[in-house]
Amino acid sequence: MSNAAPILEFCGMTACFFVSTAMIGSGLPFDHDIEQLGASVPAMTWDDVRRLVAAGHEIGSHTARHIDVSRTGAEDLRADLLDSVNSIEQHTGVRTRFLAFPFGRRQHTSEAAVACAREAGFACYCWAEGETNYFPLDPYHLRRCGPHWRMTTHRFLALLDGWGASSG
Ligand SMILES: [Zn+2]
Repeated sequence: MSNAAPILEFCGMTACFFVSTAMIGSGLPFDHDIEQLGASVPAMTWDDVRRLVAAGHEIGSHTARHIDVSRTGAEDLRADLLDSVNSIEQHTGVRTRFLAFPFGRRQHTSEAAVACAREAGFACYCWAEGETNYFPLDPYHLRRCGPHWRMTTHRFLALLDGWGASSG
C-alpha cells in the first residue's frame, strides 16, 4: 500500500493486489516474512484495501489463511476460497474472480486445487513462476513476473516484451 501503490499511481498504472483475507487485521505475521526477513511486515488493513479499490486497482484472493493449497483437502480448500471471496466482497463491494495461490510454485499446487478454484468460480489462477505468458493463454496457469530492486528498467521492459524470465 505504501510502496507499490504510489509507484503505480505515478506511472498511471493499476494492478491486482492479492490478499489473504484472514490475515488482514489479525496481527499475525506471514511465515515467509519471518523465514526470509526475520521480522514481521505489517499487513494491509481493510481501509487500505478499500483505498486500492477506490484508486482503480483490483483485489484478488490469496486464500483466506495463506494456506499451501497442495496440502489442503478439497473441502477445506473450498471453504477457505469461499471465505476469502466473501470477505473481499463484504469489505469492498467487489466479488473477485482472481486467485493467486500462496507460495506460488509448482510444488505448492495440484490439479485438484486448480479444479477446486475453477469450480469456485475463479476466472484465473496465478502462479509465481517468473516467466512471460504466451498465447494461447491458460487462465489457470497465469505466470506472474515482477520487478525487483536489482532489475534495471531496460530489463523490466524486455521482460514485458517476452524476453525471458525475471530471475537474476
Ligand atoms: Zn503469499
